[in-house]
Amino acid sequence: MKVPWLVVGAGFAGSVVAERLATHLDERVLVVDRRAHVGSNAFDERDEAGLLVHRYGPHIFHTNAPRIAAYLSRFTAWRPYEHRVLARVRGRLVPMPINLETINRLYGLSLDEVGLETWLAERAEPRPVVRTSEDVVVARVGRELYELFFRGYTRKQWGRDPSALDASVAARIPVRTNRDDRYFSDIFQAMPAAGFTAMFERMLDHPRIEVALDTDWSEVRRLARTAHVIFTGPVDEYFGRRFGPLPYRSLEFRFETLEQERYQPVATVNEPDESVAHTRTTEFKHVTGDVGARTTIVREFPRADGDPYYPIPAPAAQARYAQYRTLAGATSGVTFVGRLATYRYYNMDQVVGQALATAERLASGQAAAIA
Ligand code: FAD
Ligand code: UDP
Repeated sequence: MKVPWLVVGAGFAGSVVAERLATHLDERVLVVDRRAHVGSNAFDERDEAGLLVHRYGPHIFHTNAPRIAAYLSRFTAWRPYEHRVLARVRGRLVPMPINLETINRLYGLSLDEVGLETWLAERAEPRPVVRTSEDVVVARVGRELYELFFRGYTRKQWGRDPSALDASVAARIPVRTNRDDRYFSDIFQAMPAAGFTAMFERMLDHPRIEVALDTDWSEVRRLARTAHVIFTGPVDEYFGRRFGPLPYRSLEFRFETLEQERYQPVATVNEPDESVAHTRTTEFKHVTGDVGARTTIVREFPRADGDPYYPIPAPAAQARYAQYRTLAGATSGVTFVGRLATYRYYNMDQVVGQALATAERLASGQAAAIA
């Protein structure tokens, strides 16, 4: 079969590019994924208890870009949802990100916003250059809160100390002096009403898109002689790891269905203590709005080996990626899009934004990569 466009990966990057090309160009698009389902890590399905669960860990949609929310709204209705997280610290559950309530509860204080700013300023250790994840937290809240909330969690999640990770990792989590206890502060926060998988199915349900699941890139590589490839898998894998493997962080997900209506007061409880092996526990009912006598939770255990989930924002890994990026830029017939293909710690909305921009470039024929 001859197709002009071959998309590898049916996650956000691949599905958005496929939908845009098929719609704009009136040309056929073949999408392959080696997994048995679409949606990649955002894949959700009903479990044996009939509850919607995210098979690759909790995925919460949030964005500050109206254009991205509007684009996805073509394929799904939404259920308003604001994510809340508690952290277990010194045996108590307190709001995370750190806010006024967190400090007052943990230290038995009754500070107001101004009082908390002063309290934090007395503890913060200013750093002339903020380079690492340790710098960014210690400079804002001081060493004790850094150790209670960030150090152990980060060491577990990444298998390295915050001092060995770019500032951007811990900087994802704000520190608030008000009582806002939402995990995200984006203008748009909602979950696809019928789940992510249903949204992907609608996106890919197009007369000019064909989806082949359980199909590895290596099985269809011959089609690339006549097709332009959009690759959304790991970039080092595409190039046979010729500059050495890029490091990724993985997770093991342990699901459990309990004979009780509710397990915990909010969707996610974080475990920053290093003596606890998992990083967080999520109860899906909070996120999905499902009801019923039973409830399903998932615990996340960080791993060095396994499916590549997280690119590592650290200098050596980024230097190696820079070699692949240069090679990718010089390789015709293929365009790299997404979290693994561009080795960026991107949220779903950022991947959608990158994919929309890439598809526009490809569709308007400006990309040198099309040559
Ligand atoms: P991927 O999702 O990695 O998709 C790549 C696809 O390509 C996969 O389906 C893979 O099977 C396929 N593939 C790879 N190689 C090949 C090959 N050789 N042949 C065939 N197919 C191949 N983002 C948020 O915005 N909010 C969240 O709450 C959130 N939570 C997350 C929680 C976890 C535990 C993880 C791991 C990620 C989370 N994310 C979250 C990030 C989100 O999952 C990603 O941003 C998004 O899924 C990236 O999409 P992608 O299409 O770029 O890449
Ligand atoms: N983090 C932390 N303690 C927490 C939550 C997050 O130290 O209670 C740090 C940790 O390094 C984590 C990063 O902040 O990897 C980003 O957190 P986020 O919740 O955004 O991670 P993700 O959902 O992408 O796994």
